[in-house]
Amino acid sequence: MRPEALFPLFKPVTSLQGIGPRLATLVEKAAGPHVVDLLWHLPGAIIDRRYAPDVATARPGVVATMTLRVDKHVKPPNKRLPYKVFCSDDSGTMALVFFHAHEDYLHKTLPEGEIRVVSGKVEQFGKELQITHPDHVGTADEIAKLQAVEPVYPLTTGLTLKVLSKAIRASLEALPDLGEWIDPAYRGQQGWKSWRDAVLEAHGPEDEAALESTAPARQRLAYDELLANQLALALVRASMRRIKGRVIEGDGALRKKIIDSLPFRLTVSQETASKEIAADMAQPIRMLRLLQGDVGSGKTVVALLTMLIAVEAGHQAVMMAPTEILSRQHLATIEPLAQAAGIEIVLLTGREKGKTRDAVLEKLASGEAALAVGTHALFQDGVEFKSLAMAVIDEQHRFGVHQRLTLAAKGRAVDILVMTATPIPRTLMLTAYGDMDVSRLPDKPAGRLPIDTRVMPIERLDDVTKALKRSLDGGAQVYWVCPLVEESEVLDVAAAEDRFAQLKGVFSDKVGLVHGRMKGKDKDAAMEAFAGASTRILVATTVIEVGVDVPEATVMVIEHAERFGLAQLHQLRGRIGRGSNPSTCLLLYASPLTPTAEARLKVMRETDDGFRIAEEDLKLRGAGELLGTQQSGLPEFRMADLSVHGDLLAAARDDAAIILNRDAELESERGQALRTLLYLFERDAAVLNLRSG
Ligand code: ADP
Ligand code: MG
Repeated sequence: MRPEALFPLFKPVTSLQGIGPRLATLVEKAAGPHVVDLLWHLPGAIIDRRYAPDVATARPGVVATMTLRVDKHVKPPNKRLPYKVFCSDDSGTMALVFFHAHEDYLHKTLPEGEIRVVSGKVEQFGKELQITHPDHVGTADEIAKLQAVEPVYPLTTGLTLKVLSKAIRASLEALPDLGEWIDPAYRGQQGWKSWRDAVLEAHGPEDEAALESTAPARQRLAYDELLANQLALALVRASMRRIKGRVIEGDGALRKKIIDSLPFRLTVSQETASKEIAADMAQPIRMLRLLQGDVGSGKTVVALLTMLIAVEAGHQAVMMAPTEILSRQHLATIEPLAQAAGIEIVLLTGREKGKTRDAVLEKLASGEAALAVGTHALFQDGVEFKSLAMAVIDEQHRFGVHQRLTLAAKGRAVDILVMTATPIPRTLMLTAYGDMDVSRLPDKPAGRLPIDTRVMPIERLDDVTKALKRSLDGGAQVYWVCPLVEESEVLDVAAAEDRFAQLKGVFSDKVGLVHGRMKGKDKDAAMEAFAGASTRILVATTVIEVGVDVPEATVMVIEHAERFGLAQLHQLRGRIGRGSNPSTCLLLYASPLTPTAEARLKVMRETDDGFRIAEEDLKLRGAGELLGTQQSGLPEFRMADLSVHGDLLAAARDDAAIILNRDAELESERGQALRTLLYLFERDAAVLNLRSG
């Protein structure tokens, strides 16, 4: 349960004074739905109102706070001209200018003959100085209450700075004092203030330097967030460890059969990874290991060999993939091999229903099926295994699935191997997985030919079509990837359908189509037709990005390549270059290219080294945007910026380990504060891993 001290922070923003339902929608859009989201919504700029000149010395173009006598209101002769209020001090005269003025209101706030303080940007208009629509008007007392240096927050259409600032000020008033969760020595060494003071300071920048992610207040808040992230991961892991694992050792008979039936030899790194995994499984603790290898590095075989260890030991194993297409693809790869070894394998996704599903469930419960492939449907209620010992999770580049799964598999002594295809930098790896054991597949299977990648303007579509004709005559198969239309799957599909129709006009029934909105059956049919080469060009949206394996496909055309991220382009391109024939990738772009897009395409042309691409991506986009956090499932940070706060992440990881070593249940005083920290950053699920959670 969330600690009471945090209750005010998790109220909806409507609980703040002056925020009704209409404004709440806007505030929510800018910052988030809860009061706490406003705390994380930090200023991006400042307006310095400390400049307080008299009229004679005021510099145009600068924000000034001026004390003036209100002399005279002058109504315009017609509505298109502005209403003016002339003011003065001992040094001179100037005007305040208002368009679409509310006369009554102006008379009230600027009564003739009175002294008022006015703050806004000074402008020169002909010979006259003026301020158009001053930001603040009030008596000296009223203005004194305003911040001399005003924070400027990121806004959204329809939301004014005044309204948002007011809401944020109100949220800061609700700020509780929370127990300290940072190690006192570390905090002292960093010179950080308490959490509450750090939040206040982050919202009250005195100068530009205070806006940097390296400013102490921001560093402290970033550290808090990273500590919550690392502690949550460490807790999940510790709770997995608590359930005793089983010693799983096989005699190697099944593995040998399958290795012998492979048309290739394992690479050195595949062998090494298999050995590391087997050693882990032979330990009486639960395995949680990451298998990291670039697209095409041959993870599937390693996964299969891992699963076979469980089967050799008389247990069952499953492989879970993020999509149905990918599950089927895995089944297609694994089934013939399994059959060669006399092992039954079943498929379970959301699409298996009725009798088919019943039959699958029966086989899993009886142990008749030793292996299963599928989506998360494998871990739904009602799915029973006779003796599940091993789960492979194929995340490709959509991180985070393992966290949900470890929770789902809680209580079962299942060894877990997570497969990921994205060679993300180590820092990002830590935020997604914590300190997980890692096996890597750095080298690709021998004999792979480099992919010839070319970048060309989309105006050359006709040439491309002609070249395709030649390739098809030479026996090639082609992926044609259609552009991502911004955030609209419907438009994506329309674009893919148009391209499909156009190519069909040229290549008739050699063309197939697959996209995310098709029914499962139709998707399969399209994929199967392409895999069996009865269609030779597959027009697709990015659904083919993940995992699909058709070695005969040697050409890929990516339309509007400039709209894709680097990691995504790399993933897509990894679909070709898998066979023994040379492959070509055509990146078609529409002008004008932004400098970033140009840089991305250049990197793609220069290298197919996944690690280099990941590093370049980090440089080009910054960590927050790497891979497009949304779809990648990487944790999104509000305070931390990994391109700057890498050191803090390492410290947070070490701290999390020390904390759990000393106080595994978070029961000490600091432990209680740390629980609050987890709730503060909405890592509620992690707390469930504590016995008294
Ligand atoms: P990924 O790591 O992207 O999942 P896959 O496991 O799908 O890669 O393997 C890519 C292709 O490489 C498959 O066609 C697979 O059969 C083949 N392959 C895997 N290991 C080897 C090897 N040692 N030598 C040659 N080909 C291999
Ligand atoms: Mg794969």
